Amino acid sequence: MKISKNALTVLEKRYFIKDEDGKPIEDLEGMFHRVAGAIAKADKSFNRKADVSKTEQRFYEMMTNLDFLPNSPTLMNAGRPLGQLSACFVLPVEDSMDAIFEAVKQAALIHKSGGGTGFSFSRLRPKGSTVRTTGGVASGPVSFMRVFNMATEAVKQGGTRRGANMGILRIDHPDILDFIDCKQNNEDITNFNISVGITEEFMMAAEEDRDYELIDPKSKKAVGKLSARKVFEKIVDSAWHNGEPGIIFLDRLNRDNVVPGQGEIESTNPCGEQPLLPYESCNLGSINLCNMLSETDGGVVELDYDKLGATVRDAVHFLDNVIEVNKYPLEQIEFTTKQTRKIGLGVMGWADLLLRMGLSYASDEAVELAGKVMRFITDTGREESVRLGKERGSFPLFEESIYAGKYEALRNGTVTTIAPTGTLSIIAGCSSGVEPVFAYVYIRNVMDKTEMVEVNPVLKGVLQKRGLYSDELMKKIAGAGSLAHIEEIPEDIRKVFVCSHDISPTYHVKMQAAFQNHVDNAVSKTVNFTHEASHEDVAEVYRLAFKLGCKGVTIYRDGSRENQVLNIGSVN
Ligand code: UDP
Repeated sequence: MKISKNALTVLEKRYFIKDEDGKPIEDLEGMFHRVAGAIAKADKSFNRKADVSKTEQRFYEMMTNLDFLPNSPTLMNAGRPLGQLSACFVLPVEDSMDAIFEAVKQAALIHKSGGGTGFSFSRLRPKGSTVRTTGGVASGPVSFMRVFNMATEAVKQGGTRRGANMGILRIDHPDILDFIDCKQNNEDITNFNISVGITEEFMMAAEEDRDYELIDPKSKKAVGKLSARKVFEKIVDSAWHNGEPGIIFLDRLNRDNVVPGQGEIESTNPCGEQPLLPYESCNLGSINLCNMLSETDGGVVELDYDKLGATVRDAVHFLDNVIEVNKYPLEQIEFTTKQTRKIGLGVMGWADLLLRMGLSYASDEAVELAGKVMRFITDTGREESVRLGKERGSFPLFEESIYAGKYEALRNGTVTTIAPTGTLSIIAGCSSGVEPVFAYVYIRNVMDKTEMVEVNPVLKGVLQKRGLYSDELMKKIAGAGSLAHIEEIPEDIRKVFVCSHDISPTYHVKMQAAFQNHVDNAVSKTVNFTHEASHEDVAEVYRLAFKLGCKGVTIYRDGSRENQVLNIGSVN
């Protein structure tokens, strides 16, 4: 089994079981055996005669072949005492001191176990309102976010990975202007992604240049008015400055709420792909699309739908088992999660698949294929969930769900989600989630000052085949950051091998929307802009995402943060 040195370093540091001196006592195969064994066991609770070793073998193979990987907490914790297997949680924040600090504690326990938390702060009374018991004044949502942030910072030291948070405030909360600004200095609330919860009513008001009302969350009364267009422009301005805040469309999250009778969805997990009810959690997993291809004798690369279908079925089975063997950080989370039994199966390696098939990410053909592939995955995943529902019983709230009467039985309230796959894609050695390739060539300075050239394997293959590959050319590409203007590379290659910054924001959004239209939950995606992009470019993307049915938008303008994680054209 071949995995990269990078991947092995990540796994050794965070995923493998270690002895008291911090030395890993398992290897990659050992880890996958541990995970497959722990997850397959769940079959026994539904059928005492189940052939667990057969299921275990299938799960093991699917992971060792890097066809499918479950989210990081499952890899880290399955079959171990902690046993917390989910990446995504949403916690409620009620408007009382007790409730706020209870939520801080709950978040700390989740972070310790490798999960990320999302919160809506919309129920907190605005800054300056009175506090009845003390006669003092309330400090408002943004100041409490700092408390959550500090707790996250402290837990970081001892946890399995950095705790991450999503903070959401409704557009009609009286403190919305403070919230939009709260990450502009970039020193405070560092462990949060923030998003403004936008309503369709607000989008219409901005379009028509009307005022909209601010509502006090306690009294539910209007306490002021703002110009929707000015607030929209302020969000655009902040996002243009440093990528924060993102926006989410609350009505759309709730239109896909499978159990509307249980209350509103008010937040997502940290990276935005998983809307959840308060106290719900969700475990994710991703299929590596690069491994779902076959080549005809004539050298044409095609999607192998049989293999993809079989992998989807095993993955849904796997993720449903995770709900069963998971050790939940709170009783209430266990109860709520098992009421809907949501799972989030997604994909990684999408950009690599397009390269292998000779399609540019920025093409209508690629957008169309995205819809086709994702529809197949969701349909097949749902079929498997129906099968499991007949065998194991539907999720308890099935009869009150939007699926009642539509299916005979259904095991999982939701089946699909597109995760960022930050670590999973490193392990699998493929492009992350449904993002385009950020850069095709990186140059790393290793310790003895020698330069190491890392080239995207698909590009390397194509260039070698055509006799064009050289270290010199690779350095040129690394310096330029893109192939777009490298004349030594033939036009037909340049057309396909586009990177994030060659792709217009419009195509970023079109691709996101194509996946979103066939995904139960949501899609993690960043729309990349060049440094020179204008405010109007950003505003246009927001309007387009709204029009095309996206559930939210995250944008990033190149060079707009000092310590940007990924750089093009730089030697690092
Ligand atoms: N997440 C987290 N901390 C991190 C990275 C991720 O809590 O440092 C959570 C978060 O909810 C995120 C989800 O895990 O939305 C999935 O992220 P990703 O797909 O990148 O995780 P992976 O499974 O690849 O590690």
